[in-house]
Amino acid sequence: MAENLNLLTSTQNVIKTALDKLGYEESVYELLKEPMRILEVRIPVKMDDGKTKVFTGFRAQHNDAVGPTKGGIRFHPEVNREEVMALSMWMTLKCGIVELPYGGAKGGIICDPREMSMREIEQLSRGYVRAISQIVGPNKDIPAPDVFTNSQIMAWMFDEYSKIDEFNSPGFITGKPIVLGGSQGRDKATAQGVTICIYEAAKKRGLDIKDARVVIQGFGNAGSFLAKILYDAGAKIVGISDAYGALHDPNGLDIEYLLDRRDSFGTVTTLFDEKITNKELLELDCDILVPAAISNQITAENASDIKASIVVEAANGPTTSEATKILTERGILLVPDVLASAGGVTVSYFEWVQNNQGYYWTPEEVDEKLTKKLVDAFENVYNVATTRNIDMRLAAYMVGARRTAEASRFRGWV
Ligand code: NAD
Repeated sequence: MAENLNLLTSTQNVIKTALDKLGYEESVYELLKEPMRILEVRIPVKMDDGKTKVFTGFRAQHNDAVGPTKGGIRFHPEVNREEVMALSMWMTLKCGIVELPYGGAKGGIICDPREMSMREIEQLSRGYVRAISQIVGPNKDIPAPDVFTNSQIMAWMFDEYSKIDEFNSPGFITGKPIVLGGSQGRDKATAQGVTICIYEAAKKRGLDIKDARVVIQGFGNAGSFLAKILYDAGAKIVGISDAYGALHDPNGLDIEYLLDRRDSFGTVTTLFDEKITNKELLELDCDILVPAAISNQITAENASDIKASIVVEAANGPTTSEATKILTERGILLVPDVLASAGGVTVSYFEWVQNNQGYYWTPEEVDEKLTKKLVDAFENVYNVATTRNIDMRLAAYMVGARRTAEASRFRGWV
């Protein structure tokens, strides 16, 4: 039978197994298997050539039993309803794992910002906020950046919402520029969360980061910040890649040089003749492998050829269920996406807290609070995995789903 590469059904399957293991009745799964609310909107934008183009967007709110929902907005040509649904469910799990008072949400617009002018992107961003304004808000659903959206887009969205709300509402959205109420450390938060998980996993395996050989797939926001943090910590980054190929040096790549040369879309390999493929990159000899690009990269086909002893998922959904099984059986420590990439939403939560209290923290305070959250979450998931003798992904889903299931039960929904 062909391997299941559908993100929604594979997420539903793991949630079902997690809830069964936790002893919840079928009605809890019925509630959590899909978002409670999905809004599909059409956004007309007057383009630079004078013609009107109508874009389709979505906002999915998975479950708000624990608190308001939270999740990023993605601008990408491949955005679709099912993907937004799955991503909103992962946000519930992430928030549960790091114990944030939120449920999950996600938004997306089918568009290609790489082919649009700044003015067109601004109009699209403002139009999207007008279209979803009735179901979002600082105490309802709080958006944030995701693929191909950034702090400038968050600033436009914040400004548009503040006009609708007739009030300055910084807590409506996170990932804003610092001057508009953004938090210190938000830009590198995801990479920092991944780093904390790498350190915790390395401790479990008796590996010193200073001696470690690391391979990172993807050199965008997550991958490039991560490469820099680990390089500065003394690790040898022996491979990196982007959408066009991969670079390999068993003695370690010069990350400072590569960071200087990369473009704003995370492309750098096009400048080099000597390249390997992304497939070869994943199978390189190394200690730690970090997929930080796209989904379905480690599958039943290549899982047996992975040489790393630790795999930490910075990307969403890079490893299929079958590959998870193979890696775990081979004794490879796999730190799943819902735990490893929770640093971004954690600092987004810190931003919202700071906006609500009108008092702002130093970078050191943000660092300290983020580290505590992620270390506790890692330990919690690792303990569930080892005591129950299950893989880290299922353990993470059990930890993540439990809060929402409990809150739904206390509210009398199930
Ligand atoms: P990005 O767009 O900044 O960078 C993506 C990188 O992946 C680029 O280097 C790109 O060239 C590369 N890439 C694209 N297609 C590829 C392919 N087919 N093969 C190999 N490489 C390819 O994105 P990002 O923000 O760094 O996000 C990367 C992953 O991490 C995504 O799965 C995203 O959902 C996840 N993530 C990011 C954040 C965040 O805060 N940035 C938070 C949580 C999860």
